This record gives sequence, C-alpha cells and structure tokens, in this order.
Amino acid sequence: MNSQNYNYCQSITGKTQLLGVIGHPVEHSLSPVMHNVALAKLGLDYVYLPFPIAPENLATAIAGFATIGVVGFSVTIPHKQAIIPLLSEISPIAQAIGAVNTVTRQGNKWVGTNTDVEGFIAPLQTTYQQDWSQKKAVILGNGGAARAIVAGCVQLGLAEIHLVGRNIYKLKDFRQSWQNSPFADKFQVHSWEELPKLIPQANLLVNTTPIGMYPHIDDSPLSSDDMANLPSGVIAYDLIYIPKPTKFLQLAEKQGAIPIDGLEMLVQQGAAALKIWLQQETVPVDEMRQALQNHLGL
Ligand code: NAP
Repeated sequence: MNSQNYNYCQSITGKTQLLGVIGHPVEHSLSPVMHNVALAKLGLDYVYLPFPIAPENLATAIAGFATIGVVGFSVTIPHKQAIIPLLSEISPIAQAIGAVNTVTRQGNKWVGTNTDVEGFIAPLQTTYQQDWSQKKAVILGNGGAARAIVAGCVQLGLAEIHLVGRNIYKLKDFRQSWQNSPFADKFQVHSWEELPKLIPQANLLVNTTPIGMYPHIDDSPLSSDDMANLPSGVIAYDLIYIPKPTKFLQLAEKQGAIPIDGLEMLVQQGAAALKIWLQQETVPVDEMRQALQNHLGL
C-alpha cells in the first residue's frame, strides 16, 4: 500500500459516503484517481471505488447499491446502454443518445444522465471556441463514444455532421438506433471508402476508434496520405489520451491541424459527474487533471 492509499484509508469513517464506477472490466478505469483526489481536496467524507460487475449481475448490483446507500456512480463499458431499463429517470441528453455514464440517487430513485457530451465539447467551447455554425464535422467510428460525439456536435451547432464507419451493417444499426432521437436527422453516415470526399471538407475531425491507443502507438485511423487534403486550421480531436500525442494527432498536426487529445474530455466528464453527485457548482478540476497527468506520467 503506498502512502496515498494509506491516507485515504485513514480518512474513512463510519459516516463515509460511497461513490464509484461500474464496468466489466473496471480495473483500468482512471476515474477513482481523479475523483478521490477531488474529494480529498474538498475535505469531504466520501470515497470513490471501482466495482467490477459482470453483465448478468447488473440488476442485482444496482439493487444492492440502493440498499447500502450509494450516492452515485459512473457507468462504463459494457453497461452504458444496459443500465437504462434499471433507472427511474434519464435526462433528455442521455435519452437522445441512448447511453448513460452517470447515475445519481435522488430520493428513492436512480436517475441517469450522460456527461461525456459535456466533456467532449468543453475544450471546443473554451480554448478552441469559434463560430461552429458554418463548420463541418467528420467523426471516425460508430461505437459507444461516437454517440456522445454526435450529440456534442449537434449541441455545438455544426452545419454538417458526417460519421464514418468501416462495417456497413454496424453503421446501419447505428443509424437505426437513433430513429426515436431528436438528433436522428442531424447527421449522416458514410462508409470508410467515402473518406477521400469528406476529408477536404472537415473543420473538425474526431477519432472515436481505439486505433493508436497504447500499446499500438504507431497505428493511426488515417495515414498521412489520407490527411493530405485536410483544410488548414482544422481541429483534429482524438478521444485517446495515451500516448500523448497519438500518431493520428501527430500526422494531423503535420498537415497544419490543431490537435486536441482525450484527456480534457475525461477530466471534464468526471467534473460534471462530481458536480451532480455533490450538488455543487464547482469542483477542483485542476487537481483532477493534475492527478490524471501524474498517474499517467504525462
Ligand atoms: P467501441 O464502442 O468499441 O467503438 C469503437 C469503434 O471503433 C467501432 O465503431 C469500431 O468499428 C471502430 N473501429 C475499431 N477498430 C477499427 C479499425 N481498425 N478501423 C475502423 N474502425 C475501427 O469503443 P468506444 O467506447 O466508442 O471507445 C472508443 C475509443 O474512445 C477508445 O479508445 C476509448 O478509450 C476512447 N474514449 C475516450 C473517452 C475520453 O473521455 N477521452 C471517452 C470514451 C471513449 P466496428 O463498429 O466496425 O467494430
């Protein structure tokens, strides 16, 4: 046990309140790192723990959480959609994208929302803010994270949103899964072969695939040839945060793109969740970011 863990254990009391993250697997989650630092900084008697929960145990676990008074929890793969029927309410944004990443106890109800959208758009509304209404987004990948990115691009008000996938059947399923969403007609889907036509139009190019994630640091979803026709000033946004920068961001930067990596999204979605659980408007975001950077050796 290192000295940091020892300090957390020393501060646990009979009144300590419980937060956590559910996933399967969950041991690689970075959420405990940033949330426990934030809770310590705030001097609150809470602890945030990882809960490995297999899909078949999800309902039992959530019922157990209610019994023991868990205040709230983060939701990661593979539970972001499966959790929905177990909740009493979900927010309009979680409803629209069909995925929940944050659950809080309100009275005797579980209420779900999705803070990935807020996390994704945070740097695009602050450091890299611009008039998005004339801009076009190209999103690579059609998995779970892509749902929040589509919603984030809709919220930013981008003129056109193009999502590109490698598997035509999964792409059709993705499109179909939005049929009851208010965002259904806000984006178009394309096969990977259409990228040469889309790349020259992109003002915001987002990688939501895991290609290039550590340890596969020499991989990139697009080659330098693919990116040769990127317009100048394009923002290249990779949801991956290790390595920093990814090959995708390195190649894009060589073409004059402005790079954004996934760390800030991770920090900001966590900060937004913590505000909900603690019902307070500010949380120590800088300490959360620093804790992750220290942990990741960045
Ligand atoms: P996911 O649900 O497994 O989706 C991955 C997507 O990438 C799928 O559409 C998959 O295509 C596509 N893909 C995988 N390999 C590909 C390849 N070789 N060529 C083309 N497409 C490929 O994963 P996810 O939950 O969306 O996560 C994706 C990435 O985002 C991960 O690296 C994750 O760590 C990161 N992420 C970061 C944050 C953050 O806060 N920064 C938050 C969420 C996720 P198919 O559908 O055809 O299989």
